[in-house]
Amino acid sequence: MILHRPIPDGFVIKTCTVVHKADGWYVTLSLSDDTVPAVSPDINLEKTVGIDVGLKDFLVTSEGEVVPIPQFARKSEKRRRLLNKALGRKRKKGTRRRQKAGKQLSKHYQKVARQRKDFHFKVAGQLLKQYDVIAHEALNIKGLAKTRLAKSILDAGWGEFIDIVTAKAERAGRLTVAVNPSGTTQNCSGCGIKVPKTLADRWHSCSHCGAELDRDLNAAINIKNLALGHWVSKAQRVSEAVAGVVEKPRLTA
Ligand SMILES: [Zn+2]
Repeated sequence: MILHRPIPDGFVIKTCTVVHKADGWYVTLSLSDDTVPAVSPDINLEKTVGIDVGLKDFLVTSEGEVVPIPQFARKSEKRRRLLNKALGRKRKKGTRRRQKAGKQLSKHYQKVARQRKDFHFKVAGQLLKQYDVIAHEALNIKGLAKTRLAKSILDAGWGEFIDIVTAKAERAGRLTVAVNPSGTTQNCSGCGIKVPKTLADRWHSCSHCGAELDRDLNAAINIKNLALGHWVSKAQRVSEAVAGVVEKPRLTA
């Protein structure tokens, strides 16, 4: 067997998964370590970022950073089509030629899945280096915006990416916040008014407050603001509760 990493001392093996992949058998162990912190108390809300799937990019942040779709994704799509065609030509089932073509295709899928995972880990690492709180749209919410459906090609892997960011953030004592996606594309990040857009509209132009910016950037800022609203209102509730406790003895005195 090939052991990628030794099992560190003090960890308890929680689960063991055995998977048969295109190029062999894999055993994955999940370990548990109670010394890993839950959420770090020194989270800086000023280091909050909103991220959104771009129309043409992998993601856009509320600070204007753009992560393009990686080169391998485009290249792999070409090769996938080629291999698929090759498989289609070998019609006779059970022949060695067909088996070989099938194996080539599944190996290709495996390779792309690994590249995508690597890419996701890299991007997640970059975000967590810069930010303490990462806000994104909640997935699988009923009544998703129509634009979201049209973005579904880019969405492939987005859920996977969010899972990686969330797990990595947890380990680093940081936070991810899922916000309600309703209105994030249409509403103005400057004044909150609704500025209707079709998919073809790449630019957000608000006649009410004069905001002029890229539509994806506008959405990412909305996502950030929604997350901050979430934390601000929570902090307010906490301070109100504390104030209530302080007031009471004074009233009875
Ligand atoms: Zn506006």
